[in-house]
Amino acid sequence: MEAEYDAIILGAGAAGLAAGLYTGRAMMKTLILESMGTGGQLLITDLIENYPGFPEGVHGQALAKMMEIQTTRFGPTIEYAEVEAVEDLEKKVKVVRTYDKRYTTKTLIIATGGAHNKLGAAGEDTFAGKGVSYCAVCDGNFFRGQDVMVIGGGDAAMDEGYYLSGIVNSVTVAHRRDELRATKVLQERAFKSPKFKWLWSHVVEEFVGNEALEGARVKDLKTGRVYTYPTAAAFIYVGFHPNSDFVKGMLDMDALGHIHSDLHMRTKLPGVFACGDVRAESTRQLGSAVGDGITAALAAFHYLSL
Ligand code: NAP
Repeated sequence: MEAEYDAIILGAGAAGLAAGLYTGRAMMKTLILESMGTGGQLLITDLIENYPGFPEGVHGQALAKMMEIQTTRFGPTIEYAEVEAVEDLEKKVKVVRTYDKRYTTKTLIIATGGAHNKLGAAGEDTFAGKGVSYCAVCDGNFFRGQDVMVIGGGDAAMDEGYYLSGIVNSVTVAHRRDELRATKVLQERAFKSPKFKWLWSHVVEEFVGNEALEGARVKDLKTGRVYTYPTAAAFIYVGFHPNSDFVKGMLDMDALGHIHSDLHMRTKLPGVFACGDVRAESTRQLGSAVGDGITAALAAFHYLSL
């Protein structure tokens, strides 16, 4: 059986689009399957200041559009559908099924990225979309001039908190330790801003309110005191998990579900590659996702040339 595609790329985030740019330019017939919107994490990122070549920074959505235009110019098509299953990955012709179509391909590049973790606090699901959010760029504007919280102490919490500080009256960061994990430059920027307030060594146990969120029940881990901290919104940035469930048991993964791939982005199965945030040891940076995507595409081309 002849495969329909030379490459199917799962995910149209930065890694997937970069891979598609290279497979397209290598004249490989390429399909990119995306379940949400082209750009992945770029779509929910405001200003990106650490992607080389943009000294003033670049807005995530604008960069996503530029990457999409550049990639599709060289032939790859993008279809919007969720992958239901992948099959026959160990065979020369691999199968990808969405809920209403079946595709065959000689190589598969997995660039499905990941999603922000839930906190797991009581009331989190009840108030999701009513004050609890995982995307400042999407929902920040609803809380213009109000007091909001950010939960977490990593790069995402500091980046998104800084974005919110341009819109809201105040941003209270609730972090479970008394020291941030975020990159120093992001920490310093937040410390300098008069809009930031800090709840060090605090965890959120419950989100409370009536129709919409009104506050968070927080616990001071140093004193044991539990109290309600009023807030119009809570933006949760407590880490990230890979979108890899659909290949569980087929590929090697770490304990958190990141797919193991070598320096060429090759997984243990010939013709199957994993790149970007979904792969183990990814630095989870835009620039490295792009590099991973390019490496995967070159390795896929090499595999087809054997
Ligand atoms: P992260 O670096 O894993 O940070 C998650 C934060 O949430 C940590 O401060 C952690 O606390 C806290 N946390 C985790 N579980 C928690 C829980 N159950 N309750 C309370 N707090 C909890 O995740 P991230 O900020 O999403 O970043 C993920 C990756 O993307 C990183 O590699 C990061 O560098 C990258 N990234 C980079 C940028 C950028 O370069 N501008 C922007 C966004 C993301 P502890 O510190 O105590 O563990």
